[in-house]
Amino acid sequence: MSPLSLLKHASGECVPNFVGGEFVPATGGEWLEDLDPARDIELARIPRSNSSDVEAAVRAAEAARRGSWGKSSNAERADLLDAVAGTIESRLEEFAHLESLDTGKPISLARSVDIPRAVANFRFFAGAVRHQSTDCHSMQSALNYTLRKPVGTFGLITPWNLPLYLLSWKTAPALAMGNCVVAKPSELTPLTASALAEIFAEIDAPAGCFNLVHGLGAEVGQSIVEHPQIAGISFTGGTSTGKQVAATAAPMFKKLSLELGGKNPTIVFADCDFDETIEGVTRASFANQGQVCLCGSRLLIERSIYDRFVSAFVERVGALHPGDPQDDKTNFGALISTGHRDKVEGYAQLAIEEGGEVLLGGKRPELTGDLAAGAFYSPTVIAGLSPDSRCATEEIFGPIVTLHPFDTEAEAIEIANGVRYGLAASVWTKDLKRAHRVSSEVESGMVWVNTWLLRDLRVPFGGMKDSGVGREGGRHSLEFFSESRNICIQL
Ligand code: NAD
Repeated sequence: MSPLSLLKHASGECVPNFVGGEFVPATGGEWLEDLDPARDIELARIPRSNSSDVEAAVRAAEAARRGSWGKSSNAERADLLDAVAGTIESRLEEFAHLESLDTGKPISLARSVDIPRAVANFRFFAGAVRHQSTDCHSMQSALNYTLRKPVGTFGLITPWNLPLYLLSWKTAPALAMGNCVVAKPSELTPLTASALAEIFAEIDAPAGCFNLVHGLGAEVGQSIVEHPQIAGISFTGGTSTGKQVAATAAPMFKKLSLELGGKNPTIVFADCDFDETIEGVTRASFANQGQVCLCGSRLLIERSIYDRFVSAFVERVGALHPGDPQDDKTNFGALISTGHRDKVEGYAQLAIEEGGEVLLGGKRPELTGDLAAGAFYSPTVIAGLSPDSRCATEEIFGPIVTLHPFDTEAEAIEIANGVRYGLAASVWTKDLKRAHRVSSEVESGMVWVNTWLLRDLRVPFGGMKDSGVGREGGRHSLEFFSESRNICIQL
């Protein structure tokens, strides 16, 4: 495969599915348009697959489980994952280009975060399974040892904001533990998943261990979740979709991991390191145009520094300029689609109706040329809203943050916990005792102190309340993607 073939999809061609090690068109012959959100023009066409395509992918996966893949050793699977990592890494620039085109994110972000983290995910789980150990519990009269067995074929369903990164976060541990997968990326960002399929083909991965079926969530996604031979679902996406996935999968007793939405608090105390906090909070608010599930969209600021903080924050955010995602210098890209931009814009309008004051943004930037039609929205800062207003409690998933002053630690915690979500939080303070106290009280799966999005792949990743069920990362992923089997031997 020439390096440039990864980019062929970005020229209007119909991207195939990948089933049983072969690139195949969808059986129904229908297709969907995949758009470049920065220009609102067609990038590629993807198959609008149906339940027959899912059936073929599940059959291929089950055949692989009965074949050589089912008999593979941990070391062989670790080698395969390392080969995937190395091949993506050798094509990092092309992957970054493809991801930036498909999502509208700045290429500098795809190059420095999305693709390197996808590489790291494959490498990490290669190492984890290569060095895996299992439990042994000895009794006076017996010995217990616990095996971790593959579960079967998993459905992996992923969203559009971090396409390759999140797909690799599921694919790597699923394969590491000896399962097969049927992956369905978001229909809005299918390209790097197809490029990943090309890598599996290129390195001669056993046919059927990794299958990819493109299409709509309500059709392909739903068929995967409903399929009786899919043993588990790892889903990342919106809370309402997660509810639908759970309602379908739970009565079938499938293993289920749900990574859902968030409305994350960023809590700034007066004793924070002011300059570092401005920098960190700007990133936490607007990375990937605010389209990271972990972004802090509610900014709670201790009243004694509120005015000073807000004016420095607004000045710093004002240095983010929407521009061509493919330009190395761009620090703020497009949103995922014009439809999503309209939704974000609707929330800015609602904020005004709810009594908010727009301190920055609140409008589409004026871009020219082919970017004029793109899904751009300026970074937006809104003050004066009640913490229980709709804009301050519903997930917007875009470049809007709301600012809320607080007087006491207890009040900050009450505001932080006053939403249905509980994914991530960040706390900014130099007081170590306060950092421990607040982190322990905030209802959140993850809390960062004086930093944001610092990731150690071993730690549990996931949310509570309406932000999801289960944890990914390190042994949590390895356990989710395997069944423990205890064997007790009478001595
Ligand atoms: P979405 O729920 O609309 O779609 C996610 C995936 O589910 C897509 O592949 C979609 O095609 C598929 N899908 C849709 N309906 C389905 C159905 N009935 N059955 C099976 N699959 C179906 O979410 P999105 O708009 O793509 O992504 C944004 C959301 O994802 C936000 O809410 C964000 O917070 C969340 N998210 C969460 C995390 C996390 O780790 N918690 C990470 C990234 C994004």
